[in-house]
Order: sequence, then C-alpha cells, then structure tokens
Amino acid sequence: MFNRLYIHVPFCREKCHYCAFVSTTPKHNELVEYPALLNRELQFHTNEAGPLESIYFGGGTPSLLKPEQVARLLTEITDQIPIRKDAEITLEANPGTVDLISLKAFHDAGCNRISLGVQSFDDRFLKCLGRIHTTEESFQAFHAARQAGFDNISIDLIHSLPGQSLDQWRTELQQAVKLSPEHISIYGLTVEAETPFARKYPADSPELADEDLSADMFEFTNEFLTGSGFDHYEIANYARPGYRSRHNSGYWQRDGYLGLGVAAHSFLRDGYGVRFSNPDNLEEYRRGVLSGLLTRVEEQKLTQSDAMAEFMFLGLRLADGVSQHNFDQEFGLSFEDAYGSVPADLVRLGLLDQTGERLALTQRGMLLSNQVFNRFL
Ligand code: SF4
Repeated sequence: MFNRLYIHVPFCREKCHYCAFVSTTPKHNELVEYPALLNRELQFHTNEAGPLESIYFGGGTPSLLKPEQVARLLTEITDQIPIRKDAEITLEANPGTVDLISLKAFHDAGCNRISLGVQSFDDRFLKCLGRIHTTEESFQAFHAARQAGFDNISIDLIHSLPGQSLDQWRTELQQAVKLSPEHISIYGLTVEAETPFARKYPADSPELADEDLSADMFEFTNEFLTGSGFDHYEIANYARPGYRSRHNSGYWQRDGYLGLGVAAHSFLRDGYGVRFSNPDNLEEYRRGVLSGLLTRVEEQKLTQSDAMAEFMFLGLRLADGVSQHNFDQEFGLSFEDAYGSVPADLVRLGLLDQTGERLALTQRGMLLSNQVFNRFL
C-alpha cells in the first residue's frame, strides 16, 4: 500500500558540475511523451493506493514540464486514486526555468508548494556549481512564486562550497531569511565520484571545506535559523511552524510511497515493506512501461531486522526522534530487548537525548549521525 506519490522528471536543461542525480538533457520529443508514460505506469498500481496525502514532482527539473502537462497528469492521477482534499502537492523548480506566468499556471494546475533550487545567493558560487541561473533570477522566481499564490515556498541551499568561508555562509543564510520562505533545506556539498566536480576537486583539494569548517557551518545554521523562527525538525531541514514537508516526513516515518518515472524509488507497505526502483535508463523504462513488464531494480523485501534498522535510522533523522512505545507496537519486541545498553551509552556520550519514552539526536548527534545510526544496525 502507498499514500504518497513521487514523480521523477529526469530532465535538466544542462547538467550541473556537482550533480550525480539521474538526469539528462531531453532529446527530440522525450519531454512531450514522458507524462503519458507516467500515467501508464500509475495504472499498474492503482489497486495498491490509499487516499493520497502528498504528491511530489522531483528531479531533474520538473519545472521543465509545461504547466498544462502537470495539470493533465494531476487530473489523471486524481481520476484514478482518491486524494485527500488538503494533500500537499510540491513541484521542484529551477529558478532559471520559471516566470510569473508559468508559476501561476503551475499553481492553477493544483501545485500548492514549490521547492526552489536556489543553492547559493552568490553568482560566483552558482557559476562554480554550473547552475543555469543567477542570483537575480532566484530572487525573481521567489517573488513571482509569491505573486502567483504560493504560500508555501521552500528553498534549497548548499554549504561547504569550494573556498566558502563561514562569513560567506552567514551572508547566504541572512539572504535566505530576508526572503521569508516557509521552509529551508540545507545540504553540505558532497563531491560525488565521476562528476566534473570530482575531477576538479580531488578529496585532498585545499579548496574543499574540512570537517571542522563544515561542522561550524552546520552549528551556525542551526543557531541562526532557529533564532530566526525556524524549527530544525530534521537533520537537513528547517520550517516555520506548520510548514514541515509532509511528503518528506512520510519518508522518515516509513509511510508507503510509489515512485513513478525513470529511476524512481518506491516503498510499499506490505509486511515489513518492499523497496524497489525503476530502471535508470529512459529507453528501458519506456519499453517496460509500454509492454507492461517494467523491471523492478534492486527489489528488496525487508526482514524484521531490516525494518527495525530503518525505523531507527530514518526516525532518528527527525528532531522528534523515535518512540520506544511505537517500536514495541510495530515489532512486537521490546526496545530494551532489541538494543540493550546502546541507547544509554549514546545518551552518556551526548549523542542522544531521552525525553520520556522518546529518543532523539542531540545537535552533536546530528553532526555525527552516521556513527549513531551504525549502533542500531
Ligand atoms: S538541476 Fe538538479 S538534477 Fe539537474 S543537473 Fe542540476 S543538480 Fe542535477
């Protein structure tokens, strides 16, 4: 079963230098034909759907789709699957691909949340990242989204960029807060293998931020944004009260979701859960959808111990942490029997906080989250 829908749009106007996501420049009619494939794929799964709580157009660059394509797809989805009246419908948009007219049309199509890939408010960094937009275009896109009627706007920013100082990062955050978005996602740069970035910045490049600087940026971000009225509700995410991403919160709470499109991942709640993804090659995906024989890549039926580990490392990403009571209920096994002294050890090390029956990462625990997660595997 699933009650969330993720739609992957694997096209970008140009490839950013740091990008390892599945995305290519669209050829011929690919962008025109793609939504029909998504609708066809959806038809394989309509009997597994609960009322939809959220739909998320991610990418790639979903804002390369025409608003009429998004409108049509949303109509096709809601004709086949029940959807909650207050469902969150997010569109990721690259600031270089939208204007007031298109944003109004996306809003009219039914999108009620927009996630703008701003990444930086400094043109030098945007150029270094290979983004197709300027800072000015990010401002224009943000204000146009407001004017178009979006009252729930998220922006993405990246810290630890090559040569970036803590002062420069402070300026980025000040700029973000000035715009007054409802939600901010903050990622530290990771240099992915086989990207132009990896060739330009090898692991020992002096231009890359070292661990201490990255940690300072993470800590400063928390201080600055919580001091500006944002709730640090997940390791990489901040929201004004009432504006947490409902779609992404579902991932961390292990709600079922169906991913449509090239390379999209799904998690269906069946037993302890089944995870699988679609082929990451457009032609293979197209053939699979048209023949009705879409291959599931890396299908994994979770065992109880897989699901327990996920419960911990996904749930602990949230500042609310995990409930030991919910763990007992879900697995019919006491939390204490499952993990013995591990939680108490982590509390002693200052990596976890215990409030009543809930356990959550401390700020230090968020910084060292992988070490904490490893203790629950
Ligand atoms: S816009 Fe996003 S998905 Fe597209 S190339 Fe850039 S980072 Fe990758």
